[in-house]
Amino acid sequence: MIKGEIGSKGIAFAKAYILEKDAINVLQRKMNNVEKEKQRFIQAIEATKEEILNIKNKLSKNLEEAIIFDSHLLIIEDPDMIAQVFTLIEINKVNVEYAFKTVIQLYINLFKNMDNEYMKERISDIEDVFTRLLSKLLNVNLNESINLDSEVIIIAHDLTPSDTAQLDKMYVKGFITDIGGKTSHSVIMARSLEIPCIVGTQNITNLVKSGDFIILDGINGAVYINPSDELIEEYKSNKIKYEKENLELLRLKDLKTKTLDHFEVKLGANIGSLDDIQKVLNNGAESIGLFRTEFIYMDRFELPNEEEQYSAYKKVLESMENRPVIIRTLDIGGDKELSYLKLPHEANPFLGYRAIRMCLDRINLFKTQLRAILRASVHGNLKVMFPMIATLTEFIVSKQFLLLTKEELINEGYQISDHIEIGMMVEVPAAALLADVFAKHVDFFSIGTNDLIQYTFAADRMNENVSYLNQPFNPSLLRLIKHVVDSAHKENKWVSMCGEMAGDHLAIPVLIGLGLDEFSMNAASILPSRLQISNLNKTELHKIANEALTKGTAEEVIELLRKCNL
Ligand code: PEP
Ligand code: MG
Repeated sequence: MIKGEIGSKGIAFAKAYILEKDAINVLQRKMNNVEKEKQRFIQAIEATKEEILNIKNKLSKNLEEAIIFDSHLLIIEDPDMIAQVFTLIEINKVNVEYAFKTVIQLYINLFKNMDNEYMKERISDIEDVFTRLLSKLLNVNLNESINLDSEVIIIAHDLTPSDTAQLDKMYVKGFITDIGGKTSHSVIMARSLEIPCIVGTQNITNLVKSGDFIILDGINGAVYINPSDELIEEYKSNKIKYEKENLELLRLKDLKTKTLDHFEVKLGANIGSLDDIQKVLNNGAESIGLFRTEFIYMDRFELPNEEEQYSAYKKVLESMENRPVIIRTLDIGGDKELSYLKLPHEANPFLGYRAIRMCLDRINLFKTQLRAILRASVHGNLKVMFPMIATLTEFIVSKQFLLLTKEELINEGYQISDHIEIGMMVEVPAAALLADVFAKHVDFFSIGTNDLIQYTFAADRMNENVSYLNQPFNPSLLRLIKHVVDSAHKENKWVSMCGEMAGDHLAIPVLIGLGLDEFSMNAASILPSRLQISNLNKTELHKIANEALTKGTAEEVIELLRKCNL
């Protein structure tokens, strides 16, 4: 058995098809006609753009896939890249293929050395565009079609988005690669095609021969080569069971989330980038309960400007078609760094200069983001919240600044929505304790348990040596949550939770019992949570939650929940 990372969930079995790619050789040649080489480059760019647009149009109208090929267009149109190729041609008098390869290699090395998996996985996109453009320059045909006439599992060192785009779902039952990670674009596409895949096996291409029989277990991240008949039979029934459960969940996609005794709660999704939206829509989210905007600021070399941010927020709001989207303002610091901001080194970054503390200090940076968010408000149902609020003054000043920015935009002639709710994250115990006062000033609370737990137990959430203190079920935390919920309800305000606890199936019944109105979680947890909630009784849970509040330890609370079959 070989282990790998699950890219796209599911079970598949079929014969292996090894996908090998011919490398295109690039030779260095002296060229005197510089202008001609530059012209060839421009023509190749145009032809490549046309080809990428064709692929994009041929694919289903899937937002994620469209975004992937849009990113390829951005690479091909990158003015810096084009300028660098031109400079090499001019100075070294070399052929355009060689100049292009040199520049692309520089980009690939830059990405390889980044300390960030997501950026490393963009290398496959750069290579994809590189091969496509090179084939235009050299006038060679890309091996675009994989001709299949029977069911297979593709085995490859890596798959580019273009490779994945041409996979015929009728015959390709799954794919397994040596390299790649969960956020590579081919994996994102596999998920939207609903083809199971396992990536990062290191050496699957060395272990499998074409024609070997393969079981791809995309539930446990395992691959079996030429398994026994018994194992094949076992997996056949596992597959039927898995698909049946999935169908049952999909039935709930467009339904409301209600308990047995008809109490309604809302289930939203947490997102970090536009790439997550398709998953949110596929999983029946009623809202986006947390858009972590810091990801727009990461993996780049300078701050995103107002226009870039505006277009990202607009896309998210539009794609949710009037369902609520809570945009959280920048939460940088702690474990999320922005190297280009050159923030001072801190001994305790989680207790330091982060999130709203930094935004209220770097007011121009904050204003740019608020302008972009507010301008996007006309494209959907926007709500805004501030992270890491510790004092009432921080909230009031932030809200005031947002309202002033809104005035400024209106004076400049922009249309801004009149119904933007303004809330705050409750993730600092000081704010949780004063929730009754905050409740008079906010439109809603969103409890960030990831931070609230680390600050309540004084235990760094990144430090494994103190991970036993990550205790969502500790009565002290439950009491804080209860105080926040009760305080909000007294003022007719609503409370969401967007920390990891909200998607924990053992925590959901207690949270409903405590009166939480909304849950925001990883999109994949939404349908299973909706199913779970439809079998719960809120009146009973209210009693169980009250009993939990009287316990002394997290273990006792967990025992109580298990005893109640929750
Ligand atoms: C939280 O603290 O629970 C939260 C949702 O914010 P983040 O994980 O982004 O700090
Ligand atoms: Mg937080």
